[in-house]
Amino acid sequence: MYNLGRAVQGPPGAAGDPAPEPAFIAGQPYRSVMSGHHDGPELTVLEPRLVPLGGTRAITVRRTLPHRQVRTIGPWCFVDHYGPHTGTGMDVPPHPHTGLQTVSWLLAGEVEHRDSAAHVATVRPGELNLMTSGRGIAHSEVSLPSQPVLHGVQLWLALPDEHRHQQPHFEQHRSLPQWHSDGVATTLVVGELAGSTSPALTYSPVVGAHLRLAAGAGTAVPVDPGFEHAVLVLDGSVDVAGCTPGVGALVWLGLGRRQLGLRSVGGGQVLLLGGARFDEELLMWWNFVGRSHEEILAFRQDWETGATFGEVAGYPGARLPAPSLPSVVLRPRPGRRG
Ligand code: MN
Repeated sequence: MYNLGRAVQGPPGAAGDPAPEPAFIAGQPYRSVMSGHHDGPELTVLEPRLVPLGGTRAITVRRTLPHRQVRTIGPWCFVDHYGPHTGTGMDVPPHPHTGLQTVSWLLAGEVEHRDSAAHVATVRPGELNLMTSGRGIAHSEVSLPSQPVLHGVQLWLALPDEHRHQQPHFEQHRSLPQWHSDGVATTLVVGELAGSTSPALTYSPVVGAHLRLAAGAGTAVPVDPGFEHAVLVLDGSVDVAGCTPGVGALVWLGLGRRQLGLRSVGGGQVLLLGGARFDEELLMWWNFVGRSHEEILAFRQDWETGATFGEVAGYPGARLPAPSLPSVVLRPRPGRRG
C-alpha cells in the first residue's frame, strides 16, 4: 500500500525513517493492552499507531497490523483504518506491491484505483476491490471529490509461496453475501463464514466480514475454531468477547473459538478477520512482502529502474520513490504470534 510516512505514535525507531515497517526492523514494542474481562481463553487489545500516508494529500491512518506481538492473523498481514475524514482526502501516487493481495473496503467515500495491469476502478462502499500483486504490480489510489467523507480500510493478505509469483490481476465484487440476524447486518467480504462463501479469489483459508450492529444488538457469530481471529472496531462502541475497545483498536482473539460474542448498546461496526495460521516466514519492507533480504533488495531495485512493475497510466503526477536501502539486514519473521 502506501506506507510512506513517519510514525506519529510508535516506537523511537520509526521517527524520521519513512521506509520500513518498524515492527519488523527495530523490534520495539507497540502499546497493547491485556484485558482481564473477557469470555475466551486469550484476548489482546492491540491499540493503533498513527501513520500519515504519503502523497500530496496526506491523511493519517490507524495501523494495527503488523504488530510486534501479532504479526499476522491467518494470512492477514497489514491493517490500516482511516476516517471518517472530511479533509483533503487521499492521493497516493503510483507505488509497487509484491507477494500480497490488497483488500480495499470503504464505509464512505469513493476512491479511484489505477494499476499497471491497466485496471481502472472506482472503489465504493460495500463493494470489494481486490488486487492480487503476484510477482509485482503498481497502483495509485485517489479519493474522488464526489463524496465529502472518506472512511475505510486497506488490508493486505499475504500470498502463499506457491501463489506469490503469479501474474498480477484485479477484481471488483459489487455483490457479496449478506445476511441479517439478531440486529446485525453482515457482509462477507472474503473467504467463508457461517456457511456462506465470498466470490473473491483468495489463496488460503480466510475470513473477512463487515458487521453492522444496530443499537441494542447482541449476537454470537459462529466461527471456525481452526482459524485465528481478530476484530477491528470501525465505528461506534461494540463489546467484543467481553471487552469494549476503542475505535481503531484490533482485538486479537487467538485460535480455537467456536463463536464470537458481539453486542452494542448504541450501535457500531466491526470487521472480523481470520484464517488458518500462516506458517510461512514473511519479510515485509515498505510495500513489498517477500521472503529474504536479497529478494527485497531486488524488488526495490526493480522499482527504482522501472524494470518490472510497469506504468500506471492516467495518474497525473510522479510515482513514489522507494525509500533508502535498509541499513540493517532484514530478517524474515514467523507469520504467527511472536
Ligand atoms: Mn497500495
